[in-house]
Amino acid sequence: MTRVFSGIKPTGHLTLGNYLGAVRQWAAVDQHRAESLFCVVDLHALTVEHDPARVRRLSRQAATLLLAAGLDPRVCTLFVQSHVDEHTRLAYLLECTAADGEMRRMVQYKEKAAREQRRGGSVRLSLLTYPVLMAADILAYGADEVPVGDDQAQHVELTRDLAVRFNHRYGPVFTVPRAVLPQVAARVMNLQDPGSKMGKSEDTGPGIVYLLDEPEVVRRKVLRAVTDSGQDVAYDPQERPGVANLLEILAACTGRAPQDLAAGYDSYGALKKDTAEAVVEELRPLRERHAELVADPGYVDGVLREGAERARALARPTVDAAYRAIGL
Ligand code: ADP
Repeated sequence: MTRVFSGIKPTGHLTLGNYLGAVRQWAAVDQHRAESLFCVVDLHALTVEHDPARVRRLSRQAATLLLAAGLDPRVCTLFVQSHVDEHTRLAYLLECTAADGEMRRMVQYKEKAAREQRRGGSVRLSLLTYPVLMAADILAYGADEVPVGDDQAQHVELTRDLAVRFNHRYGPVFTVPRAVLPQVAARVMNLQDPGSKMGKSEDTGPGIVYLLDEPEVVRRKVLRAVTDSGQDVAYDPQERPGVANLLEILAACTGRAPQDLAAGYDSYGALKKDTAEAVVEELRPLRERHAELVADPGYVDGVLREGAERARALARPTVDAAYRAIGL
């Protein structure tokens, strides 16, 4: 059976980008068609300036939201990265096969390192090695597929390179995984700045729709989205990124193609209104289920405890085999 692994960082509140680009697919499709593992990758949240209590709180919130989005612990494994030591054990071995230059070429590293420097902070070494830990997350489980948004495609490519290199040099230990991107909304853009992605780690503000935003807040953010000075509605991500972003969001919520949707509108106002309502409806069941789960913290604890046990049992044989193959 195909094995799927994916993760989410507790670096901020989950966004509509996380949901449409990744989480929705995990819940609606992946967990039912494959043996799936989904992970709150809390170690990755330590790669930039962080507040310990906030990381702990956000990890729990992320796990709760994943359950609210429909992950079913009877058919998939949901766990927290730091509960399973195999990730860091394997990351070190992979660091011994990865090159410094290859890490420095990662687009996300360059962007995030520049941001840390602009803020006057220092760049943590773990920010540079982050993609190696991500490779360990994936390779420890022998995952065949990694469903992610477009922004993570380069890291999955690197994971493939590291797996192939290790297998070639030390013996066939790892499955070589591939990224699986969603058809639409693979990169949801910031509503106020359609040149950059809607990321929870980037900043906060009116351009980002959070999954737990009240319906009124969602409406306000979508209605105030930046478009452009044109009048007619056309799907053109290069020339009109703001309008294309709204069309992609609406397409993802309605199951229709963005080009077809564009043909049905002759004003930005109507497009924004429909998009706002579609997002509110899309998020409604998730918000309701989240409220129920928050009232039952013992349930979430139990799911995460069991998930970590299952994950550990799956990862250990592969990681042990990697230790033997590399000469330990
Ligand atoms: P973030 O960048 O918001 O901190 P993560 O790195 O935790 O997100 O990624 C969790 C998942 O959400 C990944 O599969 C990532 O590709 C996806 N994702 C993040 N932002 C977006 C976005 N704006 N559009 C589509 N998918 C996204």
